[in-house]
Amino acid sequence: MNNKQAAEILSDYLKKGKHRITPERFEVLDAAIEYEGHFTADELYIFMKNNNSNVSRATVYKTLELLTACKLISLRNFGDNMNRYESNFKRKQHDHLLCLDCGRIVEFTDNKVNKIQEDISENLGFTSSSYSFNIFVRCKNKANCPHYND
Ligand SMILES: [Zn+2]
Ligand SMILES: [Zn+2]
Repeated sequence: MNNKQAAEILSDYLKKGKHRITPERFEVLDAAIEYEGHFTADELYIFMKNNNSNVSRATVYKTLELLTACKLISLRNFGDNMNRYESNFKRKQHDHLLCLDCGRIVEFTDNKVNKIQEDISENLGFTSSSYSFNIFVRCKNKANCPHYND
């Protein structure tokens, strides 16, 4: 998938849902799918401001919801009640391990996790659409934990 295909997916989605098609929404799309790592709506808004965008905070919030609905980005919850997003563009499906001591986030892929969520959905008579899997940990080796180097 390239940026143009991503824009087509968004444009189809907006048309189908009778949402307004505005250039600002495509500006948010480009910023969101190219953003490295995890981000909150405010972080993306500030990032765009710093790149001389005039997009409003409300537009960023609303567009991120639309991009999540059409699966161009994923919504992540890391247990702190903050909505974080992540681009699905050029990226593999992955899960997260989070350190409660230092806040480090490690991404991993393990086919067993994927298999388990598919099996459970099938066994209960559903087809899996998406899932969320987080492991919360504490640093074993405190010398490697940035939190303890403060
Ligand atoms: Zn840690
Ligand atoms: Zn991630």
